[in-house]
Amino acid sequence: MSRIAYVNGQYLPHRSANVHVEDRGYQFADGVYEVVTVIGGRLIDEEGHLDRLWRSLGELQIDAPMKRGPLKAVMREVIRRNGIKDGIIYLQVTRGVAPRDHPFPKNIPPSLVMTAKRLSPEKLEKKAEEGVVVITVPDIRWTRRDIKSVSLLPNVLAKQAAKDSGAYEAFQVDEEGMITEGSSTNAWIIDSDGKIITRPTGNSILAGITRAALIRELEKHGIELELRSFSVEELHSAREVFLTSSTSYVLPVVKVDDHVIGNGHPGIISQKLRGIYQDFMIAGK
Ligand code: PMP
Repeated sequence: MSRIAYVNGQYLPHRSANVHVEDRGYQFADGVYEVVTVIGGRLIDEEGHLDRLWRSLGELQIDAPMKRGPLKAVMREVIRRNGIKDGIIYLQVTRGVAPRDHPFPKNIPPSLVMTAKRLSPEKLEKKAEEGVVVITVPDIRWTRRDIKSVSLLPNVLAKQAAKDSGAYEAFQVDEEGMITEGSSTNAWIIDSDGKIITRPTGNSILAGITRAALIRELEKHGIELELRSFSVEELHSAREVFLTSSTSYVLPVVKVDDHVIGNGHPGIISQKLRGIYQDFMIAGK
């Protein structure tokens, strides 16, 4: 089945789907995005992603490209036209097309683009069984990381640094030596007492939808959580480390920089939490 992209009202062959050269997303990174996982043809945590999309748009004073109902209908149509059973849908909204000038242009419609692609659950499962390696890098981003902006250059550089050193992800470190989050994931540790720790939301990290879902599940299961920042030293000496994201779910980390975590295999609690999160995805609520 050939890939189809949605671009401003049209469903187009992926290879010939284009946006205007003066789209402000292209020239200023003046836009926001979401990535929603599809499993068995079903969108995971759709409402959470749309809530966050609306919030990001509001923070940047970009109009919603359409109402929520029609947007959901387009998402479903993109999934259908691409024949996606397991994969992701990518949504991007920019301020629109206007002659290049920094201030907001008046009376132009925002641009809406959607693409979808298949992902193999088996590949991810293998990663989860082995665990992944993480490096740490300085966090060089702006201070509104709560907005899911398409301005991702520091994240791109962090992920490339991880790739260059054979790692899966780079956890970013703020000026106080505390972990903020991964380049495209949220960071968690489990300390020597078995306590689960992750950084509170605010402007310094993206409020991950997977992070929020896992926190809800922890509450339901009566598992204690400490919402606080943790340092690089705590990360290196943690009993277990894991990361969360829409495309990684709960993924155990077995090495950080030169420090082997636990016995170098996915930790018991991380594996349990992965199971709990997957049960949540299957149950659909
Ligand atoms: N932090 C950053 C910087 C991200 O890009 C992502 C992925 N969107 C996440 C965290 C994880 O968020 P989510 O669980 O919503 O995928």
